[in-house]
Amino acid sequence: MILLSFHGAARTVTGSRYLLEVNGRRLMIDCGMFQGLKALREQNWKPTAFEPRSVDRMLLTHAHIDHSGYLPRFVREGYRSAVHATSPTAELARFMLLDSAHLQMEDAEFLNRKRKTKHSPALPLYVADDVEAAMKLFRPEEYDSWKQLDSGVSFRMLNVGHLLGSAMIQLRIQDGGRSVTVLFSGDVGRYGMPINPDPVPPPESDYLVLESTYGDRCHCNEDVNSQLEILAGEVLSRGGILLVPAFAVGRAQQIIYLLQLLVARGKLPRVPIHLDSPMALEATKVYEKYRGQNRLPEEELRSGGAEGTLHLVHTQQESMALNGMSGPAVIISSSGMMTGGRILHHIKHHASDPRNLILLIGYQAEGTRGRALQEGARAIRIHHEEIEVAAAVAVLHGLSGHADHHELLKWLSGFPPPKSSFVTHGEEAQALALAGRLQAERGFSAQAPEMGQQFTL
Ligand SMILES: [Zn+2]
Repeated sequence: MILLSFHGAARTVTGSRYLLEVNGRRLMIDCGMFQGLKALREQNWKPTAFEPRSVDRMLLTHAHIDHSGYLPRFVREGYRSAVHATSPTAELARFMLLDSAHLQMEDAEFLNRKRKTKHSPALPLYVADDVEAAMKLFRPEEYDSWKQLDSGVSFRMLNVGHLLGSAMIQLRIQDGGRSVTVLFSGDVGRYGMPINPDPVPPPESDYLVLESTYGDRCHCNEDVNSQLEILAGEVLSRGGILLVPAFAVGRAQQIIYLLQLLVARGKLPRVPIHLDSPMALEATKVYEKYRGQNRLPEEELRSGGAEGTLHLVHTQQESMALNGMSGPAVIISSSGMMTGGRILHHIKHHASDPRNLILLIGYQAEGTRGRALQEGARAIRIHHEEIEVAAAVAVLHGLSGHADHHELLKWLSGFPPPKSSFVTHGEEAQALALAGRLQAERGFSAQAPEMGQQFTL
């Protein structure tokens, strides 16, 4: 008997956790943290519906915290078996999880200091030692190679183009006399994006678990290259500084590459691009190491003279030296929503100059400084100081790592209707809309499972 149950990312985006039970053996696909609203974050403190030590295997689709961020807690609670993931996923996960542990320590300390907690003292979900314990369980996997697990289960990981190392996972299960295949899409990437390759077509499978972050949205008319050329071109030609708050893993590397490509094509002047974020430096090293897995026109970048434009900022002194710098130049720094990190210092020193531009390139959650700027605020609070923003502010759309509904259907164009498909990893409206489209346009049997729901395959 094969049972599939949903323990997160069910009618919501975060907390991806799926459990497959094959004749009593338990496999878990993704071990994500719930993020966002308080009611979701509180889910991280509830015990899972099954004992961590009762799980026999863990498979991770990619390193994003909403897919991997619960793992150290799961290990702390008793999980001891292998964690299968691609090599870049394992390497990115290490410092993303360490960063996550660090943020939780900070939050707990803040709550204790302010006595804003019913629980005294407030505790972090996990600490760095739990991350190290989890990292010891990782087993690196190659793309597109079948791996036999015990109990008649084998799996393979295929490049889904969402983030370096990201994978969809196909499982082949022998159950009595029958063979059943199940495909977990993970987060599905897009076509023709900077750095990330196109997702490979999904292999035919009996069952499909499909993400739906943008199940009802369209990334239409978003020509990133020409938008960036215009926005960056204007600020650099007037001698200004282009300030980019960027998520350290994935997004920072994409924007560096896009800027360098515009330099190589003669569309932007050859100016220094300063990357000032310890985590982005780590991530950039992993991107360099797995250069072959990235979509990069190496020859064009080299011959166009874009090489040598990137300046990595290693020390705090180097970072502070950028405070007195004059343009034209680019500073890329995290955090992406300006909730913390070195970007705050750069904004503080350069926001008063109307020649400069603050360019928002990712999602800005409610309540963040990034969101305030996006909505037109002309002053923000940084380190207890009111900072006036005379610099221009612009939003660059189109760098999302998730396929929209057109791209999801394109991705599935050669995929015959499965016995059943389960739409997950989307807000309720997005998940239901995509399930409806799969039924109406592709003749799929599709549903959006609810938290804790179980199905017999
Ligand atoms: Zn993701």
